[in-house]
Amino acid sequence: KFKKKWATTLPKLPSSSLALQYFDINYSMQFGEQWPSIRISLLCEQKPDCFGLLEYYLMDASSLLPVLALDIQHGHSVLDLCAAPGGKTLALLQTNNCRFLTANDLSVSRCKRLQTVMRSYVPRDQRTDKNVQITTRDGRLWGDVENSTYDRVLVDVPCTTDRHSLLEEENNIFHRMRTKQRQMLPLLQTELLLAGILSTKPGGEVVYSTCTLSQLQNEYVVERAVELAASEHGVHVEPQDLSCFRKVFKDTFNFYQDCRVGELVLPHLTANFGPMFFCKLLRIR
Ligand code: SAM
Repeated sequence: KFKKKWATTLPKLPSSSLALQYFDINYSMQFGEQWPSIRISLLCEQKPDCFGLLEYYLMDASSLLPVLALDIQHGHSVLDLCAAPGGKTLALLQTNNCRFLTANDLSVSRCKRLQTVMRSYVPRDQRTDKNVQITTRDGRLWGDVENSTYDRVLVDVPCTTDRHSLLEEENNIFHRMRTKQRQMLPLLQTELLLAGILSTKPGGEVVYSTCTLSQLQNEYVVERAVELAASEHGVHVEPQDLSCFRKVFKDTFNFYQDCRVGELVLPHLTANFGPMFFCKLLRIR
């Protein structure tokens, strides 16, 4: 007789294989016959770069959609609640419309990367203390710090980062040691979105975004945060119709047709972008 030592003797599956097993179970139910095609697209190389050199800030084209959905107008004050490493922050600044931008991230090391990105891509006169502020706070508490302050708020939350989880072992949220953290994601996401809603001025808008296909981290989080804002804070927000994105970008991205709120870009071999979920909320009062 021997006692099984689970932790040490059983073969350890790489986190990316665990992620694939998890997605096969959950997403085949969520997306039905579309799943095999999404699955192979997720597993395929997106953008081969033969020199390994980046002369520009490389990001998935669908990452621009949440920024566009935010619809920043001239003179707006903007909060980017989970900003590092800063791809979307750059795009926000590139609109040239931000009167003032706060870029925040909880992680000190990732904030350092954000600072480097800023220094590398944004001209000095466009990132003075007057127009850009980088902070390292817990975004969940932002509603207490700056209530009803910003015209526009981007809440680009941590998620299961589906593509990364299938392709990279490093920093993989499906690592066994991170199971609890992964299970807590929807709660963290809801708290972050709620804080984003509270820090938006009445009449202002919040965009919530993720790079996962998971309904639990997308639509359900939005619906729960909308509910909590009303019941706990008397703050009313309304999900906005973004179907115009589906029309305008139909030749570039493959959109899912069945979201209850927001829009979801599905990876597809002929348009291998995403996943990217984004949903806009208008704060009524
Ligand atoms: N918006 C970024 C971009 O476009 O480059 C990507 C953001 S990433 C999806 C999510 C970020 O949320 C991570 O950098 C993580 O450090 C940060 N984060 C996690 N928990 C947080 C919290 N409680 N408050 C603020 N940021 C948090």
